[in-house]
Amino acid sequence: MNKYDVIVIGGGAAGMMAAIHAAYTGAKVAIIEHNEKLGKKIYITGKGKCNLTNNSDVETHLNNIVTNSKFMFSALNNFTAQNTIEFFENNGLKTRTERGNRVFPESDKSSDVIKTLVNCLNNNNVKVTLNTEIEKIYRQKQQFNILCKSGIEYTCNSLIVATGGLSYSGTGATGFGYEIAEQFGHKIAEPKPALCSIVVKEDVSSLNGLSLRNVTLSAVIENKKYSQFGDLLFTYNSLTGPIALSMSSLINKNNLSRVKVYIDFKPALSEALLEAKFKREFVENAKKDLKNYLHSLLPSKIIDYFIMKTKLNNKKLAEINKEERNTLILGLKKFDFSIKSLDNINVGIVTSGGVDVKEVDPKTCQSKLVKNLFFAGEVLDVDALTGGFNLQIAWSTGVLAGVNAAIASKNKLD
Ligand SMILES: Cc1cc2nc3c(=O)[nH]c(=O)nc-3n(C[C@H](O)[C@H](O)[C@H](O)COP(=O)(O)OP(=O)(O)OC[C@H]3O[C@@H](n4cnc5c(N)ncnc54)[C@H](O)[C@@H]3O)c2cc1C
Repeated sequence: MNKYDVIVIGGGAAGMMAAIHAAYTGAKVAIIEHNEKLGKKIYITGKGKCNLTNNSDVETHLNNIVTNSKFMFSALNNFTAQNTIEFFENNGLKTRTERGNRVFPESDKSSDVIKTLVNCLNNNNVKVTLNTEIEKIYRQKQQFNILCKSGIEYTCNSLIVATGGLSYSGTGATGFGYEIAEQFGHKIAEPKPALCSIVVKEDVSSLNGLSLRNVTLSAVIENKKYSQFGDLLFTYNSLTGPIALSMSSLINKNNLSRVKVYIDFKPALSEALLEAKFKREFVENAKKDLKNYLHSLLPSKIIDYFIMKTKLNNKKLAEINKEERNTLILGLKKFDFSIKSLDNINVGIVTSGGVDVKEVDPKTCQSKLVKNLFFAGEVLDVDALTGGFNLQIAWSTGVLAGVNAAIASKNKLD
């Protein structure tokens, strides 16, 4: 009765895509989801609009994957961003490509993405079991047995683990997939927060809400320079906004206890150009005081903080000596903050770390250790920058796992 060719654990982006493609491949499929509904995380993606992919080529996707991009080569070539757009359009969801090639549903409603996937599951007779907690999973006679806390037991030939990472536990993230993987002998790369705020040691509460446009944020760790250009935001205790989020993903595998991040407020002006500008303008505006002059260079909200941190005195421009001019230039080009930590993994947009991809076949998403066991989505140690790249990882690995789990299931029966 409860016997399936393929069972998918986790009804998120990767799990639904895997189930649909296993069903397309002719398998009898079920999804086991412990939430009361499918796709709870999809609902909150892209601020409720769901940036469902990035309308760009495979190379661009690979370049935006921070961890284990090579592993994604086959999955992304097998099911590209264009395939994702076609999949949703063919199933009735109109899409629109915006700035940065970000693709959204034309309705701007993430719920429409979920509806499209759920309709597709229904049309392909995928059995969806909600509110279902799993007690244990074990292997018997080359099958997987899944015993639920309700006492109901399911069996399948192929098992797909698509339980996501550890971020946003309110959407159902539990780390259960890591437990299953470990149970079957897989290594787990330590889960770390990614695409999250950078908490700093300094008291930046007075800057809460300040937004900086077109600045550069950089860090140097073990002689490697990380640099991001764009918009930055302050909270009461952290740096956030697009470039801080990207930076967190780039540096999260390092020991950050002694690392500083630097803001370049004027990336278009070299130190030499700033020097020439100040020499000229300090003469032209000799009677202006520094604080007043800084309004032409920085947002008002940061000026007192800037003066305090650089220890510059608020004197007339004519009185500013060479050393003070250099301090000003350094402050504008390398305004430093000491990292206290990255934000909590629960509030990172994605989890970096997870099932070690060395033990997973990139051409099928099948475990190299246990036949007919597959992994898809964020449970894998793969993560990307913002722009629709993370959901594309879920769709592409979901398709690969779904198709190959269905094939493996049939082969086993032959
Ligand atoms: C706020 C936010 C905004 C985002 N915006 C975007 C965006 O616009 N574009 C983009 O590309 N990416 C975005 N992401 C990232 C993207 O949502 C994820 O990368 C993607 O959802 C991962 O899909 P997944 O299926 O692997 O995991 P999930 O979507 O997390 O799905 C995992 C599923 O497994 C279920 N599950 C877990 N444990 C169990 C268990 N024990 N039993 C049964 N079921 C279980 C969960 O309930 C969940 O339904 C965003 C993430 C967040 C948090």
